[in-house]
Amino acid sequence: MSNILSIDTVSKYYGQLKALDGISFEVPENSIFAILGPNGSGKSTLIRVLAGLITSWEGDIFYKNHSIRKKENYTNNFGFIVEDPSFYEYLSAAMNLRILCRLTNSPFARIEEVLSLVDLSDRKDELVSNYSYGMKQRLGIAQALLHDPKILILDEPNNGLDPVGVNQIADIIYKLSHEGKTICISTHSLNEVDRLCTDVAIMKKGRLVIAKDIRGVSSKKRFFRVETFDAKYVLSKIKSLRGLSVLAAQSNSILVSQSVNSIPLTENKTFNKIKSIKSIQIESDLIEYYYV
Ligand code: ADP
Ligand code: MG
Repeated sequence: MSNILSIDTVSKYYGQLKALDGISFEVPENSIFAILGPNGSGKSTLIRVLAGLITSWEGDIFYKNHSIRKKENYTNNFGFIVEDPSFYEYLSAAMNLRILCRLTNSPFARIEEVLSLVDLSDRKDELVSNYSYGMKQRLGIAQALLHDPKILILDEPNNGLDPVGVNQIADIIYKLSHEGKTICISTHSLNEVDRLCTDVAIMKKGRLVIAKDIRGVSSKKRFFRVETFDAKYVLSKIKSLRGLSVLAAQSNSILVSQSVNSIPLTENKTFNKIKSIKSIQIESDLIEYYYV
């Protein structure tokens, strides 16, 4: 599959702070691409560069081999939600979209399409001020899709949403992916990436840790999070078991990796009987890169 976006040694300084440090990766066309990293890793900065909201930066970014620095109307191909979307709160959702249609020269017929896509057709005539946070997020996506862009880029779309809201956003992303669109989302949630995404770029402190296709990839290790009442005791037990290693330990939470050839920790009867263990959860394979 061809790449729709190429990020080529992009750096960005805020004064002395290097928020992006020579980031390079490719985004395949029609992927659901995650930009994954903890807070402060540079995700929003990269998205703001892409959106043209930051103008002074180094390196280059190519949309289908055209440098976005040349501004050959490339922005028409992008839809963004960079911050919380804003609306005319005292107007209906449909009216908000009509206004944006005029501004972006989009056909009015597109309004019903995007409303249906984000599942707001039934609520389109209500004032936006009466919308829930989740509905506003979806209306924001409708706005970003009005001009029918090829790529939709969402900065932490699930922040502040409850599980129902998160599922609704996932449904929209799947629908768009079926339509052939490329979707980039930033997130700090490994589970979200596992569940939703086809590809991931992992960032840490402004650097790229790894970029990879994660469809159907099986790891040589598996990972568990062990919650304990007595971390010191459980740590000593883990260290005495073969094939296990401790990736990280934070207060009462221990992150353990294990070779896939051994009996999964969750099924190890002697280990499970240790009284000071509260729970053992399976973790994402990506956690390995998160803790480098
Ligand atoms: P993320 O979205 O992954 O949480 P950001 O891109 O927001 O990360 O931030 C990356 C780093 O740049 C952080 O250290 C942050 O404090 C810093 N930063 C972000 N925006 C600014 C700004 N406008 N001025 C100065 N520093 C900033
Ligand atoms: Mg951010």
